[in-house]
Amino acid sequence: MPHIAIIGSGPAGCYLADHLLRLAPAAQIDVIERLPVPFGLVRYGVAPDHQGTKAVVRVLDRVLARERIGFFGNLEVGRDLKLDELRALYDAVVLATGAPDDRRLGIPGEALPGVVGSAAFVGWYNSHPDHAAPALHAVRSAVVVGNGNVAIDVARILAKSAAELAGSDLASPVHARLAALPLETIHVVGRRSAADAKFTQHELAELGTLARARPRVADPAALAGDTPIVELLRGFAADARTAAVEIVFHFGLAPAAFVGDQQLQAVRFTRAGGSTLELPAQLAVTCIGYRSSGCCSAAAVDGVVPNQDGRVDDGLYVTGWAKRGPSGTIPTNRSEAQQVAQRLVAELRDHGRPGRAGLSALLAARGLRRVDHAGWKQIDAAELAGAASDRCRRKFDSVEAMLAVIDPPG
Ligand code: NAP
Repeated sequence: MPHIAIIGSGPAGCYLADHLLRLAPAAQIDVIERLPVPFGLVRYGVAPDHQGTKAVVRVLDRVLARERIGFFGNLEVGRDLKLDELRALYDAVVLATGAPDDRRLGIPGEALPGVVGSAAFVGWYNSHPDHAAPALHAVRSAVVVGNGNVAIDVARILAKSAAELAGSDLASPVHARLAALPLETIHVVGRRSAADAKFTQHELAELGTLARARPRVADPAALAGDTPIVELLRGFAADARTAAVEIVFHFGLAPAAFVGDQQLQAVRFTRAGGSTLELPAQLAVTCIGYRSSGCCSAAAVDGVVPNQDGRVDDGLYVTGWAKRGPSGTIPTNRSEAQQVAQRLVAELRDHGRPGRAGLSALLAARGLRRVDHAGWKQIDAAELAGAASDRCRRKFDSVEAMLAVIDPPG
C-alpha cells in the first residue's frame, strides 16, 4: 500500500486528497494541518459574512471523513517534524500550504501602528489564532490599498452595520472593536485604472447595497472604458444618496509612503505625472496579495515553491497557492489538484515506507498531541453550540481553547 502525505487542509489539500482517493485506490492518504481545525483559507480567508462561500467546507469535510484519509491536526511540519523526516516516512508528500504571508509594499512607514497587511487583518476578523487585533485608534478614515476582491472584503467588513452581520461568524469582540470606530470614510485605492481593477462584478456590486455606507468615485470624469466594473462604478458615481460611511474609489495612485510619527496619520500616493496626494488615515490595510515561504528544505522563491507542473523533487509535489501564487477562486484548486494528482499517481512507487504507522510512532516518541477528525468534529460541535443568537458559529481564537473541548487522549 503506497502512503501519501498532504501538508495543508485548505481547499487545495482537500481537493487533492479527493482526487487521490479516486486515482490511487490502494493508497492511504494523510492530511497534516498545523492547526487543530481544517479548511485553511475557507475558514480563515473567506469573509465571515459570506457563509454561502464557506459552505464548501461540507464538501471538504466529507473528504476528510473518508476511511482511507487520516487527519493529523495540530501538527506543524517545520516545528514538530522536518519535511525530510516526513518524506522518509511516505512514498509521496504534497505541499498544500497556501500563501499565508502578506506581500510588502516596501515603502516608508510600513511598520507604523495603524498599517496592517490583509493576511493579518482578515486573519484577525476571521479569528485566526495567529492574528491579534491590529492597532485601531479613533479610525475616522481608512485606506484600503489594492483593487482585488480582498480589498472589497475588507471595505465591506469595515462598512457593514450590526444588522448586516447577523448570520455571520464574525466574533463578538471583533465586531465590538469595529462598531466602536468613528468611521466616516473608506478609501479604496488602485495603482492602475478602473478598467484594470481585479474586482469581480458580484463583489463590487454588493458594496452598492449596504445599509450605512455608500460607494462613490473620487474622480468620475476619469472613468474610461466600458467594462462591467467601470459601468458599476459609473452607477456608484451617479448615485446621489448620502450615508454615514462613504467608500471612495480612487484609481491611478501608486502608494509612496505611510505618514505619521508614532501612529499612522495619512497615506501618500503618487500619480503617473509625478504629482502626489495624501489621504488622511488612521488605518491602512494593504490588500496587494500573498506569499508562500515554502516549507523547510522546499523554500519559496518569489512567493511560490519552484515546481514543474506541480513536481518539486522525487516524491515531492506542490499544489494550490504555494504552487501558482495567490490567484483564482476555490474551484480553481479543484481542477489544478486533479492535474497534480494525475502526475503524482503516474510517478508513485510503493517503497514499503511506514506511512501513518511511522508518523504515529514519531508523534508518540515526541509527545505530540494529534487532533484527528473526531477531535475536529468535537471542536466544530462546540463552536456551533456556542454561537450567539445572531451568529452561526462562535470560533475559538486560540489553539488552547480548541484543544480544551476535545476529550483527552485515552
Ligand atoms: P488580486 O486580485 O491579485 O489583487 C491584488 C491587488 O493589489 C491588485 O489591484 C494589484 O494591482 C494590487 N497591487 C499589487 N502590488 C501592488 C503594489 N506594489 N502597489 C499597489 N497595488 C498593488 O489579489 P487579492 O485581492 O489578494 O485576491 C487574491 C485571490 O483571491 C484573487 O484571485 C481573488 O479574486 C480571490 N478572492 C476572491 C473572493 C471572492 O470571490 N469573493 C474574495 C477574496 C479573494 P495590479 O493589478 O496593478 O497588480
